[in-house]
This record gives sequence, structure tokens and C-alpha cells, in this order.
Amino acid sequence: MKHYDVIVIGGGHAGTEAAHAAARMGAETALVTLRADAIGVMSCNPAIGGLGKGHLVREIDAMDGVMGQLADAAGIQFRLLNRRKGPAVQGPRAQADRKLYREAAQRVTAAQPNLTVIEGEVTDLKVAGGRVSGVALADGSEITCGAAILTSGTFLNGVIHIGDQKSSGGRIGDKPSIALAERLKALDLPLGRLKTGTPPRLDGKTIDWSRLETQPGDEDPVMFSFLNTAPAVRQIACGITHTNEKTHEIIRTNLDRSAMYGGHIQGVGPRYCPSIEDKIVRFAEKGSHQIFLEPEGLDDDTVYPNGISTSLPADVQEDYVHSIVGLEKAKILQPGYAIEYDFVDPRALDLSLQLRAFPGLYLAGQINGTTGYEEAAAQGLVAGLNAALSVQEREPFHFSRTSSYIGVMIDDLVSRGVTEPYRMFTSRAEFRLSLRADNADQRLTGMGIDIGCVGEGRRSAFEAKMEALEAGRALMEATVLTPKEARDKGFRVNQDGTRRSVFELLSFPDISLESLCLALPELTAIPGEIANQLAIDALYANYVERQQQDAASLKRDEGWEIPEAFDYSALNGLSNELKAKLDRARPRTLGQASRIDGVTPAALTLILAKLRQAR
Ligand code: FAD
Repeated sequence: MKHYDVIVIGGGHAGTEAAHAAARMGAETALVTLRADAIGVMSCNPAIGGLGKGHLVREIDAMDGVMGQLADAAGIQFRLLNRRKGPAVQGPRAQADRKLYREAAQRVTAAQPNLTVIEGEVTDLKVAGGRVSGVALADGSEITCGAAILTSGTFLNGVIHIGDQKSSGGRIGDKPSIALAERLKALDLPLGRLKTGTPPRLDGKTIDWSRLETQPGDEDPVMFSFLNTAPAVRQIACGITHTNEKTHEIIRTNLDRSAMYGGHIQGVGPRYCPSIEDKIVRFAEKGSHQIFLEPEGLDDDTVYPNGISTSLPADVQEDYVHSIVGLEKAKILQPGYAIEYDFVDPRALDLSLQLRAFPGLYLAGQINGTTGYEEAAAQGLVAGLNAALSVQEREPFHFSRTSSYIGVMIDDLVSRGVTEPYRMFTSRAEFRLSLRADNADQRLTGMGIDIGCVGEGRRSAFEAKMEALEAGRALMEATVLTPKEARDKGFRVNQDGTRRSVFELLSFPDISLESLCLALPELTAIPGEIANQLAIDALYANYVERQQQDAASLKRDEGWEIPEAFDYSALNGLSNELKAKLDRARPRTLGQASRIDGVTPAALTLILAKLRQAR
């Protein structure tokens, strides 16, 4: 019987990242998946990153993971979201060519030492001495292991809904995983049901692009990987259109035929990623919703209409799609659908994503109640590293909330659980001013080198960058101006007798790096990339310190009472979703509020400020 240190079950985004992480750590790893040619498949939107999610991809990359590299290889439109806001909340996003993404995932997987792909269905988990010891496959074979990572995504007892039609499936075109779902039930794991949905796919040749607005990518595309500087392939633009009153009327009239509103679905769906029928019910006052028409590839006419996911019957999908400008004659290549699947309450896991009741068995991805490729991959990384560490009899590696979005997500999942599919937002991270996408390598790569998951190429690039940052910072700190010198060079600073270094001057919002370089040419000795990074670090240096103090004092403030009539809707800076949640829960104290799922320390700070004002 073949033995591996680590077996990863499922070759989706969590499984791929988990398998690579374990193999990079030197563990002999097998990736067992239903279809080897489906490694790297994107089940839903052909895009990686976005707000909060882009941070996760950067952090995966900082640990030498694969998702950032794959997205860069396949990216056909790169956009830095929130470009006009501060770097802390900017999120890199790329629309990907589906085929190129899949090919890149299969290429890097084939090239990864210590990693073997096995095509097959895992039907049973073997347990010996209270610890997972191997897996059984549908063909009757067995493989033994030191640790296993289960990443079965939406496949456990998956049911696909299109209107009142339902069928078993892991996603369209794939069979579900039933035997394994039954096995998990028998293990007495805390299981629940969630749902998600996807829009119809359109034939781009039948769209009237001439009537549509277009959205190009950024002129200076920002890559995901710290090792890449430019896109690998040709870049394209997306189209933009909108739903209208007629679209809404068609959907309203047929609401009871949707799987969701017709009562066919029990699982809870992602509220922040609503279906078009949800949008029309929940935001009844809105006469129109934006739709991005995203080409799925450079040599593929399929178009993904981002914003109209649905569980309505196929004939209603035809009608409402044809009511939209530019889509009057659009041919639907594949109808939209909703999928319901089993998930495991992540409170059964520890911070390594290991099941507390079953040592050696790790869970990662959608099975833990999350949604999204990036959330899945980030969990895969955590589980992969820790499974390898456990078979090597080494201490687990825990990502902390204070140093990564990955740490925020894992802590949220295992301590608060989920009431709906969990996705990352920047607002979940209380230390978001220091957890920026731009500095993920500074935060994490050193730790990755220490535990042994970072390859030689990245290690030397990182060390060279850190040396350059140190030298650049030393020069910026050694270059000091008196208030008068600063004023004479055209910088507005208080004439208070305080001498300020260039690094300090960079924290002034109206003093730019460019203007300092013009006034002090010696600064041009710092390479451009490095100087830009230092300018961002300087901009946040003061805030970061203040934020850490805020977090410490918040701990002391848990006993504050919240009046019964407290008006959450008046809190600027709180998402509508959180306002609604707090309004429903009506916590009595700040401490109670802090334990509500999704309530971040940043939100608590806002509530506290309001309570203090009211005193
Ligand atoms: P998956 O990518 O689902 O991969 C699971 C893998 O496990 C597959 O390779 C499968 O073959 C394998 N597998 C399963 N069972 C077995 C077994 N017994 N033996 C061997 N292999 C097995 N995300 C969003 O962010 N927004 C959305 O709007 C959104 N909509 C979605 C709509 C649909 C219809 C679907 C299907 C997914 C949607 N997603 C969405 C979710 C996104 O696809 C997932 O979050 C992501 O793919 C999860 O990654 P994963 O690795 O956990 O699972």
C-alpha cells in the first residue's frame, strides 16, 4: 500500500495551495482529486482578488504560495480597486483567462517536487489510534498517510438548483461527493448547509458591444506576485451594462419560480454577493443594477455577466437577459444555477485548521463555510503548512490577527463560526493600516523562510529587497531638515523648532516623494520601487502606532453599556450589513457586541466613540 506524509483530498483552490505548501515543506504529498484535468478550474467568476481578497493573495504569495503566480500568468485585466483611497484598503484584482489559469495551475503542480497527483474519488477516511491514517478510494484502493487535508469545496452532498429543477452535482458538469459526506456524518462532525449561486454564461458573439460602455484595465497594472512586474499576456477591456425596470418586472413576476424564493433551498447564501432576485427584493427602491460583462478568455467567446447570479428557471433567465441593453439577442451558453452543499462548523477546528476531535485531519476551503477562491487558497496554505509540520513532529505555525488577513480569517472562523458563507473584507481586520497588500512580504516572508516554505529564488529576492529598504530608510532618516530649511525648499511644516527627517516629512499628506526627490537629489540614489514602498510605510507609521494603542484600550472598554435605543444607522463608517446585524441583535454591552459574528474591533471603536459622545 502506498504511503504519503500528507494526502490532500480535492484539487480546487484550497487543495492546490495545500498540496503545494506541504510539498514545499518537504513532505511527500499526494493530491487526490476527482479529475486531474480540473485542477485550477474556477467554478464561478473568472477573477482573482479584490478588496480584502487581494490582500489574501498577496499574503499567500509572500509565503511562496501559487495563487498569485497563477493569477499573474492568466491575468487579462488588472485593476487596483480603491486606487483613490489609501494604500491600506486598496485591493489588487485581476480578471483571468480561465484556460490559462487552469493550464498554469496544472503546469506548476506537475513541476512541484514531492507532489503526486492521483485521480480518484475518496470515499472513506481511515482512522487508527484516534488519528487519521489514510483514505480509501472508490476503485477499492487505499493510501496511508501521516496527515490528511480535506478540501472538497461545494461537492459534499452538492445539489444544483435551476428553478424547481434539481440535480445532484458538485458544480455543473461534476458529480457530487456523497460517500465522503456520509462518512463525515458518521464521524459526528457538526455539519450545516450553505448555498451559493452563479450567473448564466453568454456567447460574446451575440452581444451588441457597440451599445455598451467599456472598462479598460489600469494603465500601470499591479501584479499579485512580489516576483512579477508585468502581465504575461494581452490585456482586454470589459463591457458594462445595467438591469432596468423591465428586467426587474420579469424577475418580480417570476420570483416564486426561483429555487430560492420557491422554497427549494434551505442553505443560507452569501448576503454580500446576492443573486439578482435577492437584489430586486432587498433593494426594491433601486431601478437598476450594474453588470460587468467579463470575457472569460483571450480565445474564448464566453462572457461572464458579473452581477446577475440566479436560481430562476432557464426560460426566465432568457427573458430577463434579453431585456438588458446590449443583450437583446444574447445567447445563453449555460444557465445560471444555485448550489447547496454541506459544510463543517469551523469552530470544530483549531488555529492550524486541524479538527480538534481528529488529530491529523485538516479541513480547508469552502467546506469550512467560506466562499471565494482566495479564502479557500489561504486556508489551504495554513492547512498544508501545518499538516507538514505535524508529520515532521514540529510545532504548528499560527498566523496572527496582528500580522495577516489570513490570521484574521482563521481566528474569525474557529472562534466565531459562520452564519452565512464567510468572505474577507478589509473591515474585518482591526490592524488594517499595517496589514496592507503592499507590505505582505515584509510581514510574512521572513516567517516563511524560518519555517522552510520559501524557495531559494524568493528568499534571495526578498533578502535583497529588505537590504534595499533598510538602506533607503537609513538615508531617509539621516536626511534631516530644520523647519526653516523645509520651508525654504517649499514644504509647509510648523515652524516649531522641530528638525524632521525625510521619513517623517513623508507622513505629511501634502508632501510627496517626488517633491522631496526634486528638493534633495541625494534621495534619487534609492531605487524607485523601494522609495515608493518607504513612502507608504512612512505615511502609515503614526496611524499604526495609534491603532495599536486603540486596540489595547478597547480591551479595557468591554463593560460599556449600550442603550436600548442606540442608533446604529447613524454610525458613519459601519457597513450597512453590520448596521443591520447589530440592530437585530441589540447587544447590551460593548463586550456582547464584540462577540457578534462579523463585528470587528474597528466597528467597536466606532460604537465606543458614539457612546463617549453621548455621555
Ligand atoms: P472547490 O474549488 O469546489 O474544489 C473542490 C475540489 O474537491 C474539486 O476539485 C473536486 O473535484 C474535489 N473533490 C470533492 N470531493 C472529492 C472526493 N470525494 N474525492 C476527491 N476529490 C474530491 N465564490 C465567490 O467568491 N463568489 C461567488 O459568487 C461564488 N459563486 C459560486 C457559485 C457556484 C455555483 C460555485 C460552484 C462556486 C461559487 N463560488 C463563489 C465559490 C468558489 O468556487 C469556491 O469558493 C472555491 O472554488 C472553493 O474552493 P475549494 O478549493 O474549497 O473547493
